[in-house]
Parts: sequence; structure tokens; C-alpha cells
Amino acid sequence: MENNMLDDQDFLVASISQLSISSNSSQPVVARFRPEWLQFDLDSDSNNLVRFELRNSKLFKLGPSQSVCVSEASEVNKEKNYSRGITIQFINDEESRAFHCAFEQRKKDMTVQGSFLPNGTVLSKSKFEDKIEAASAKMYFHYYGQLLHQQNMMQDYVRTGTYYAAVMENRADFVDRVVVDVGAGSGILSLFAAQAGAKHVYAVEASDMAGYARKLVAGNPLLSQKITVVKGKVEEVELPEKADILISEPMGTLLINERMLESYIIARDRFLIPNGKMFPGLGRIHMAPFSDEYLYTEIANKALFWQQQNYYGVNLTPLHSAAFQGYFSQPVVDAFDPRLLVALAVSHEINFMSSKEEELYEIDIPLRFIASVGTRIHGLACWFDVLFDGSSTVQRWLTTAPGAPTTHWYQLRCVLSQPIYVMPGQEITGRLRMVAHKAQSYMLDLILSAKMWGPGAEQGGILQTSSGKFDLKEPYYRMSQPQAYPMAQEQTPQQLLQTQDLQTLSQDEEGSDLLQ
Ligand code: SAH
Repeated sequence: MENNMLDDQDFLVASISQLSISSNSSQPVVARFRPEWLQFDLDSDSNNLVRFELRNSKLFKLGPSQSVCVSEASEVNKEKNYSRGITIQFINDEESRAFHCAFEQRKKDMTVQGSFLPNGTVLSKSKFEDKIEAASAKMYFHYYGQLLHQQNMMQDYVRTGTYYAAVMENRADFVDRVVVDVGAGSGILSLFAAQAGAKHVYAVEASDMAGYARKLVAGNPLLSQKITVVKGKVEEVELPEKADILISEPMGTLLINERMLESYIIARDRFLIPNGKMFPGLGRIHMAPFSDEYLYTEIANKALFWQQQNYYGVNLTPLHSAAFQGYFSQPVVDAFDPRLLVALAVSHEINFMSSKEEELYEIDIPLRFIASVGTRIHGLACWFDVLFDGSSTVQRWLTTAPGAPTTHWYQLRCVLSQPIYVMPGQEITGRLRMVAHKAQSYMLDLILSAKMWGPGAEQGGILQTSSGKFDLKEPYYRMSQPQAYPMAQEQTPQQLLQTQDLQTLSQDEEGSDLLQ
């Protein structure tokens, strides 16, 4: 419910009753959470109120919109040292659900804050806090708190359309089911699930987007009864019931960027019933070597600046090699022509239904390719797909492969500062090791090797190896560069429009290092 008069923690209650007092049913009661208390204001100036000490209170559901709050005997309030309870009649089921979520959340927060260990260390609030730097999380949720970034994802029609199709063709998995939307953002997937006939959807969103999601849900009255927006991290919030199915869009660049898959898996362990479904249920990372002289030269040339010996009288060359390495440590994000690939791809599968969260901290993939042509290999190209496997006979994939309709994830390429020469049919081996870091991303370690043949090479060939380290947090968004080819005169207005759309998109992405 969105009510400007109330802040996030206030709830409208139709009436409360207890042995000695009963609210005037013509005037709604406002329930408020205070740091240690749950307080019911029976009139507008808070003169007449009923308070429960959260620490000693429990909340039970009597019906969809009726609950009872019971407080055990309290030692703090010596004079009121007896148990008591009130029945709460909520104005609707919605308000009841949201209140129950908030109640459990508050109680949990209090326990965490109160749990000082003997040596003075404080228990952290959740796994999320243990793993992720506060500064990174702050920037991350600030980014997703803005409508423009949610719009950017919603406007990726390949993405949103595939989710829509996957939900609608698997209605049977949603009808009368409890759904949790993990990282709901604008709430769009929750609205899809409600359209498909869900019994109830809990839309969990940690950023301030939760407020907008509430507004969006409220503005769709046919569906709003079925959706409760819960603001908080899936690692931390409490929900009043388990889910039959989880829906989420936790994919970042290279699938794993942003480390949100871990949150998806934690949500599975916390909220999903045994054998419940997950939409999507698995993801795959695909990798293949590529050859792209133009890209290689472009990157190498960026560091030329530092080769100036007389930059306002200053010799810049001492920093050239660091700058050169710096440029080559940025994974390149853009859409490329699949003809640049020079071998069949290798795939690595992550099953969201069965993987352990810890398995995503370090992912080590052995690589083996057979070159299809003789060429210079400039690095490894990567993309991903995810599968929606519901009870419908259709297995729907959302793919970000080169050559497939472009998504806002594009593709990712790790460019090696030292290219490798290969002959047709030659074997290329290596590995890609991805290690998660506290800034919600990964360090990538790539090694590729091939035997070199030809004049001068020893019998059996000389092994040439090239390696690089890349920070997935610092990608180079290449499609923000000016168009390489000027537009042809005979373009139709429709084509022009599409090009403009594309340009707007690129501008958005230029400033965003968190973009999925
Ligand atoms: N589901 C929406 C948004 C996807 S973007 C859509 O498909 O359009 C991912 C969203 O998940 C962001 O809004 C982000 O703030 C949220 N998110 C990321 N990690 C989260 C976590 N641990 N708990 C709750 N929300 C999270």
C-alpha cells in the first residue's frame, strides 16, 4: 500500500481489541514500529496508545486479515508483569501480509543488533554483509534505485519478452502458487506472475525501487491484491510463507557479474519448498577463442598516449607499460560478429536448483579448442544463456550469444596483450579461473596455449602461452564509441528510429559500470 501520510513502517489497521480496551471501529488505528516497540495509536495525536515490547511479543495469524499479538510477561515493565494479547483486524489481506513481514523483520533486526559476542565483536546481519563491501553495496543499490536503469532492462525486449513468454506458457506452474520474485526491481516479473494466476507473489527488492514497485503494483488494481512488495535483501527479509516457485533476473555480464546468483541461491535455500521450481533454473557460460585485429589494435593504441616523451616538457613513457596492461585488463563489452570466433565453444553449466552458494566463489573452467582456421587468436569471447524449464513442453532459453538478437548484456571479450598464432586443426588449451571479490564482481584469470610450428620451431613445436588478468567490475563498454560506419542515405525512418534508440541506450551505458 502506498499512502503518503504514512512512512514505510506504519500500517493501517481497521480495529484492535483486547479485554480492557477496544478501538473505535469508525477510526482506523495506525500501527507503528519503534526501535523496541510495536505501538498502536488509537487516535491521531498518539494520546491513546497500546504498546508491545517487540522482544517479548509474538504474532499469530487467525485468518487472512486477522491476527493476534501476544506479549509474554516482561521484566522491564515490572508493574505490568503479566502476559497479554490483542486481536488485530487489518483493513485487508495485503496490509496483514505486509505487517507480518515487517514484524518478523523487526524482531530479527533486534536480535542481530543485540547479539554482542563476549569479545566485543558484533554478529553481522547476513551473508550478504559478510561477503560484500558496504561501499559497493551502497553504489549498487543506488544504481538500481533509479527508474532509468530499470527502464533500460525493461526495454531490452529480448530479455523481458522471453521472461513474459516463459511465464505465460508455463501458467500451470504459477496458477494458485506462492511466488517469490528475487530482486523485483520495478516489480515487472511479479506482475507477470500475478497475471499468470499466482495465488500470491512476494516481490523482494533491496533498493529504493521497492517504493516505486509498490506504486506500480497499486496502479494495477486487478493484480495488486496478489502482490506484496517487501523491501530488503533476500538474505535478510522474513516472509510469512514458503514459495512454490522463485522467479528472478539475477544475471550480470558473463552471467556471474554482480554476484546476484548467490542471492538467488540463498533465496532458494531460505524460501523455496523442497522440489520447488526456479525460473530460470540453470545458466551456462559459453567461451570460444576469437580473432579481431581491429579490436586488438584499438586497445593497444589507447596506451600510445603514454609514449609521448615531451608532454608539456614531461616524459610520459615510464607509465606506458602500466597503461598498456591497464587497458588490456578491461574486459570488452560489445556485440560482435560470430564469424570472429575461430573454434567451437566450450560451456560451463551452473544449475541454480542444485548448486551451493559457495560454489560460485571460485569457478575454474578448463579450456580446450580446435582452431578451425589458421589465424591470430586475440583472446576469449564469452556469452551466456539461461533456461526456463517449466511444465510446458517448451524449453525456453534466453540467450546472449553473438549473432542472436542483441540484449543489454551484449557479449564479453577478454583480449590478450600477446596474440597466439594457430594453424587450422590445431589444439588450443588453457583455463579461465574466476574468483569472486567483495565489490560484487570477479577477477578473471585467463591462460591460452598453443604449439607453434614452422621454420625455427623445434620438433614437436614450441609452446606459446599467453595470459591475462581482467577485472569484471571494470569493463570497457565499446558500443558507446561513435558508429564506425556512417548511415546510408536510403535508410527508412523506421531504421533511423532504431538507430537513435540504440544511441540513447549507449549513452546510458557509458556512465554505468554496474550495468547488467
Ligand atoms: N526483476 C526486475 C529487476 C532485475 S535487476 C526485472 O526483471 O526487471 C535486479 C534487481 O535485484 C535490482 O533491482 C536489485 O536492486 C535487486 N537485488 C540485487 N541483489 C538483491 C538482494 N540481495 N536482495 C534483494 N534485491 C536484490
